[in-house]
Amino acid sequence: MSFQSLGLSDALVRAVAEHGYTTPTPIQAQAIPAVLAGGDLLAGAQTGTGKTAGFVLPMLQRLSTESSPHAAKGQRGARRPVRVLVVTPTRELAAQVEASIRTYGKHLKHTSMSLFGGVGFGPQAAQLKRGVDIVVATPGRLLDHATQRNVDLSTVEILVLDEADRMLDMGFLPDIRRILALLPAKRQNLLFSATFPEEIKALAGRLLDRPRTIEVTPPNSTVDVIRQRVIAVGRDRKRELLSWMIGTHRWSQVLVFTRTKHGADKLAQALERDGIRAQAIHGNKSQGARTKALADFKKGGVDVLVATDIAARGIDIAELPRVVNYDLPNVPEDYVHRIGRTGRAGADGEAISLVCVDEQGFLRDIERLIRRAIPRETVAGFEPDPSERAQPVFKQQRGQRPAYGAGASQGRPRQPAAPRGSGHADARGHDRRHAQPKEASRAHGQGQARGQGHDAHRAGGQGRGTGHGHTAARGGAAHATASRSGDSRRTHAKSR
Ligand code: AMP
Repeated sequence: MSFQSLGLSDALVRAVAEHGYTTPTPIQAQAIPAVLAGGDLLAGAQTGTGKTAGFVLPMLQRLSTESSPHAAKGQRGARRPVRVLVVTPTRELAAQVEASIRTYGKHLKHTSMSLFGGVGFGPQAAQLKRGVDIVVATPGRLLDHATQRNVDLSTVEILVLDEADRMLDMGFLPDIRRILALLPAKRQNLLFSATFPEEIKALAGRLLDRPRTIEVTPPNSTVDVIRQRVIAVGRDRKRELLSWMIGTHRWSQVLVFTRTKHGADKLAQALERDGIRAQAIHGNKSQGARTKALADFKKGGVDVLVATDIAARGIDIAELPRVVNYDLPNVPEDYVHRIGRTGRAGADGEAISLVCVDEQGFLRDIERLIRRAIPRETVAGFEPDPSERAQPVFKQQRGQRPAYGAGASQGRPRQPAAPRGSGHADARGHDRRHAQPKEASRAHGQGQARGQGHDAHRAGGQGRGTGHGHTAARGGAAHATASRSGDSRRTHAKSR
């Protein structure tokens, strides 16, 4: 299929081709004819699907083929009426959409501008007063200009609400209602949202008139058969928790993902120190070393394979029982690729993500992509410290903080085995409980209450006849919260 066959003009097809695109994405193939036809549209699509061009291209076409009913009305010096209003939740998205309008509209004569806070009000007001065809705005700044009569929205022919669910999350619904009150009754409405909670459905019900509905299916439907859970944990306690889980549940054949090569190496070494047979594979390892690690893993000589996203892409291992995200990927699609390693061909698979306060944004993006909330849990003894504050993830990667507890990095002597279980484990020996919500993402505050507890405890005798024990954590490593006790075997499962 070509852009031309969707009914776009030469000027637009040329601009798209010059930008390097030859084939419309699925959302574009559906949205472009629908918008050109002039009706309202309700589109379920997230970022990455090509949704922006899906509304920008046909809206530019409509502007170029139809004249504004409000145009100048013969008066000299009258302001160009605003014909299209795109409302976005963030400044970045507003800037991005406006850049796309310039890219795709380069052979047309329309004018556009973005409007958002944090930059000078005066120049925006001046530009609005000169007149502009297309305004891409965040709600607050748009209303400020509307209140000061810098912009007249009564001439808008096409309204686009982009990432409507995110606007809702950010509390913009009252602002959206105020904006809608400034628009003319007769107009075309396009609503894009990755998810459809009740409020969005209600908004769509009020806003849209017999809309065409388009849904782009999530990239991977295997997410349906995989048991997914998030375990909230302190930033510096992930390694201990992972060692403890592997040891307690006697997991083998675990594929663990880290974000960086350095992180993969460090984690594999730390797991080895904890008595777990682990190897890392990533792009810096020779093909020979990677092949050997993979063969060892397949044979069962290695229990844990720690991999980066790129290294894992070429791996041929089917139906793994379990995938662990030691770090959440910053590209949400990578999450789907990662967990797709388990639960293949109808096999029961489990994907566990160890998530600290720094990764809440990544988690939200992933949930938006897969269109579901992943149940949250905590493991008693490893609960995140509520006073732990989010830090930029890339800072950690540059090694500005130890990757895990000081106990491990200082190589303290290990303690005798921690007592296994505390009567809270379930029948399968899985210490998992389902309970009620607590949002780790709400962790704010100052300081970190840290105990001066023990290092991770070696749980000898938990090996599987291989002579290696597994580390179990108890009583708090150097970074443990002060409140932990020996009763660390219970897992409080928490779902949203
Ligand atoms: P969006 O979902 O609109 O944020 O677009 C995601 C990415 O896909 C952007 O980098 C676009 O430039 C790119 N893109 C949009 N349409 C196409 C297309 N037809 N072919 C290839 N890439 C595209």
